[in-house]
Amino acid sequence: MTAAAGVAPAQTGLLGPALEAAHRSGVQAASCGLRDAGLGALRLTGPGVVVLAEAAVTSATPFLRSPLLARISAVTRLHPSWGDANGCCPTCGGSAPCATSRALGW
Ligand SMILES: [Zn+2]
Repeated sequence: MTAAAGVAPAQTGLLGPALEAAHRSGVQAASCGLRDAGLGALRLTGPGVVVLAEAAVTSATPFLRSPLLARISAVTRLHPSWGDANGCCPTCGGSAPCATSRALGW
């Protein structure tokens, strides 16, 4: 399963590659955590570690990502790239797309 699972491609836009990279980093971090010697007898080893890490990150990702995506969505609604009827950002008042909208266009 990928980081973008459960999110339609149109919703991820240019954010998709960043989400995929974050997912890969999360799986690597989880794999290292499961192998951590500090876990003592609970430490996991073997090829199943990556599978378990992938499952853990996949199941947790929507809960971790949703607050961030909700905030990005709120900012996008406040600063639409297309602007208002006059071509201006309804929040900033400058020409659309405003600096905030451009910052969201990774
Ligand atoms: Zn704006």
